[in-house]
Amino acid sequence: MKTRVKKKRIKQDYEYLCVDPVTGSNSYHALLTQGAIALEKHNKGLFVLISLDIKQFKLINEAYGYSYGNKVLKSIINELIQFFDGRGTIFRKCDNQLVVLFSKEKNENLLELIQRLSKITEVIKVEEDREHTLTIVMGVYEIPKEEKSMIACLDKADTARGFVEQRAKKRYVFYNKSLTDELMQKRVLEQELKEAFEKSQFEVYLQPKIVLATEKIRGAEALVRWIHPKKGMIVPDQFIPVLEENDEIKRLDFYVLDRVCQLICKWKKENRVFHPIAINLSKVYLKDRVFINEILEVLGKYHIAPKYIQLEITESASLNEGEDFIGLINKLKKEGFLIAMDDFGTGYSSLSLLKDLPIDVLKLDKEFIVKIDEIEKSRIIITCMVQMAHQLNMVVISEGVETKEQATFLKEIGCDGAQGYLYAKPMCIEEYEQLDIEGE
Ligand code: C2E
Ligand code: CA
Ligand code: CA
Repeated sequence: MKTRVKKKRIKQDYEYLCVDPVTGSNSYHALLTQGAIALEKHNKGLFVLISLDIKQFKLINEAYGYSYGNKVLKSIINELIQFFDGRGTIFRKCDNQLVVLFSKEKNENLLELIQRLSKITEVIKVEEDREHTLTIVMGVYEIPKEEKSMIACLDKADTARGFVEQRAKKRYVFYNKSLTDELMQKRVLEQELKEAFEKSQFEVYLQPKIVLATEKIRGAEALVRWIHPKKGMIVPDQFIPVLEENDEIKRLDFYVLDRVCQLICKWKKENRVFHPIAINLSKVYLKDRVFINEILEVLGKYHIAPKYIQLEITESASLNEGEDFIGLINKLKKEGFLIAMDDFGTGYSSLSLLKDLPIDVLKLDKEFIVKIDEIEKSRIIITCMVQMAHQLNMVVISEGVETKEQATFLKEIGCDGAQGYLYAKPMCIEEYEQLDIEGE
């Protein structure tokens, strides 16, 4: 082949690769090549890279078909082209991810620009009379002039985007070095957590629940602890969020459930007096109904009746679930489990939802109880909540009781039970077994 023809063919191939076949916009290949050239030439440090992710794009494809999904993508790209008005280039990275490389004006307010962009991408017009409400999240990286690697820029914009969900309510995060450090720490934690499962480093602690009138123990809540070989004991708030993000939380909850069932099975064999043990269920997998059968399987393995297990479900799990949530609780209740609504008073679950739910126990959140010493309004609210729960035939337990004053107040208003450092901290199983536990 002649050199001229060969060159032409290479140019054609290159041009072909630079076009995204689905949307006709610039491809990822174009970003890596043309973007890199732009970076190489620029020396003023005014380039900005935005990594955009269209959340739940899969659902659009599934619900309306791929060709409609492609139309949505094209509409978003058009919206972006108009927004940047000739000074930005849009690239499609993969299915639901786009990248914008644009040059910023010297004194331009970048935050204000991103806020505007975030607003206009909330609703996208796809056809003349058809709009879509979308969640588009963005990671923004202001490229310093010494940065010459497009891959590194993308990496940083992606890192920032990965933090959007943790930064409540905002749909964008600007990159800074501390995000990379935070991400590294998270990766280390994830790796260590993998090992924690493999090497059985989780332990179940029990915190007694007290009947306020008699101050006798009536059951306990299982609270997980991570016994780290170097760092010692780690409390759940430090690792549960990571497990929830990675969908590993179910594994942990089922480990705790297994351990609790094993324990009850042992107590039964020893003819010990015992009361139901509560376990926490993360809201993350509650939607996936198979978990009910999986719970029953664990109970079956140890021949434990559901009445010995109390399931604590956080108030926030009920948000946005509506009917589905009610159905789920009904199903658990029918199976014979005791149901506790956890952290009550902190979320926004409507009080009206309570009347539709077969809840046995309402657990008032500790954050709420803390205030009763100082704030009269808190005392009034708690009093009303206790009365309301009783009218709905629920038992009320207060979490986080630390002082005698709190206990006295709770007793006075007729609260049924309490859990807190005033009575006992969460303790290892052996210690719990030493406690004086009486029957009814
Ligand atoms: P939670 O369900 O609200 O549990 C009560 C938390 O309050 C526990 O924290 C307990 O140690 C603490 N606490 C008890 N009494 C007092 C008190 O008098 N004062 C104060 N300040 N705190 C008290 P912990 O054990 O650190 O657990 C934190 C959260 O982690 C739990 O909050 C629960 O949401 C979650 N969690 C714990 N174990 C599990 C588990 O196995 N699975 C799931 N999904 N979540 C768990
Ligand atoms: Ca709980
Ligand atoms: Ca709580």
